[in-house]
Amino acid sequence: MTQTFKKVRALTGMKDVLPDESASWESLEATVRDWLGSYGYRNMRTPVLEHTRLFARGIGEVTDIVEKEMYSFTDALNNEQLTMRPEFTAGMVRACIEHNLLYERPHRVWAMGPVFRHEKPQRGRYRQFHQIDVEALGFAGPDIDAELIIMLGRLWKTLGLNDIRLEMNSLGQADERAAHRDALVRHLERHKSVLDDEAQRRMHTNPLRVLDTKNPAMQEMANAAPRLFDFLGSESRAHFDGVCQRLADAGIAYTLNTRLVRGLDYYNLTVFEWVTDRLGAQGTVCGGGRYDGLIELLGGKPAPAVGFAIGMERLLDLCTQSAVEVEQSECDVYMVHQGADAQRMAAQLAERLRDGGLRVIVHAGPGSFKAQFKRADGSGARVAVILAADELAAGSASVKWLRATDDDTQPQQETIPFDCLVTELKLKV
Ligand code: ATP
Ligand code: MG
Repeated sequence: MTQTFKKVRALTGMKDVLPDESASWESLEATVRDWLGSYGYRNMRTPVLEHTRLFARGIGEVTDIVEKEMYSFTDALNNEQLTMRPEFTAGMVRACIEHNLLYERPHRVWAMGPVFRHEKPQRGRYRQFHQIDVEALGFAGPDIDAELIIMLGRLWKTLGLNDIRLEMNSLGQADERAAHRDALVRHLERHKSVLDDEAQRRMHTNPLRVLDTKNPAMQEMANAAPRLFDFLGSESRAHFDGVCQRLADAGIAYTLNTRLVRGLDYYNLTVFEWVTDRLGAQGTVCGGGRYDGLIELLGGKPAPAVGFAIGMERLLDLCTQSAVEVEQSECDVYMVHQGADAQRMAAQLAERLRDGGLRVIVHAGPGSFKAQFKRADGSGARVAVILAADELAAGSASVKWLRATDDDTQPQQETIPFDCLVTELKLKV
């Protein structure tokens, strides 16, 4: 007797995207490609797996990601420590260093794909999720920080999203952060009794991150903490003002959030997040900032850089709520047939229609005319092309319109000779 096989389910926090939902993914991806192209950003693709030490170094040991969220394992074949990428930047920078991209000239690049973090799954928080990642490598000025933010403003507009707001901060430079750090650690020590375990642990290793807390019991302490923004010198202030001025030129509003520090260790100067109230607790759609030290930290010739990452699931959730129209039809033409000869002719005509740029499904398997028309209708096709013995004898196809057209004079059904089918349907569908 065969043993019944226990159904295998997807891993917790990892979602399947089925065809109906995938239409909105594809539509977003197409919009994103056009949008990035219009600013001269070029696509690159890096591996999902990297050496663990790349992320430990590049993201920072004392961060949520490296401390507790990475999918890491030892490669049994050669004992190497490997990690599924939890974000794109470290891998993108590694690739640019490895292939000497940064020695020639600056680069505007982007990537899109899955990233992995072992988090507690909830709405807007998954273990496999997708990011659109954009990096401007080798640029030092505030003009490029502003370019990135302004282009995000354009994306929201293109997608019809008007309630994502921009929060900005500046993390200054290392010496400014060091001066602030001393004051901050003193503040944290004074309020030790309200710090949770994580904060107690981080208070000396990464005190700035303590302010990033979501723990309600620590908000008052965090709000009263010395502000890094007040420790910025004139150059850092000038950079920040340079960004803000350009945002004003572009008509982009922002609020200064002096507690915004971002999850990763490597940021300096400009940091920003785009946030919405429409997604519940997980309201950050996009986060980014400048990371002038990272390229050198990862072994490259020092070069400034700035970038951001968008969480695609959160963005799609917003788009769905805004009911952005997405093309859902499976095809333009559905071919209905009766009899073996008609089926073969349908397959051949379908190839010709595809040559003409139409999307065609040929009914597969058995089915009465009625059943086939039902499928044709369900497919969202504009027309059904019908082939049976009569049509084969006459060398013409019967064409039935399944959807209302702009042209009222369009007959419900007509006969079109095989040779004219591509030209006629291309004009009318
Ligand atoms: P959060 O504070 O929500 O944990 P983060 O600072 O860890 O965010 P980033 O590392 O900046 O997030 O990632 C960029 C974007 O990716 C976020 O703004 C968010 O839109 C998305 N994102 C981050 N973690 C997840 C996740 N687990 N599931 C889905 N989207 C995520
Ligand atoms: Mg996180």
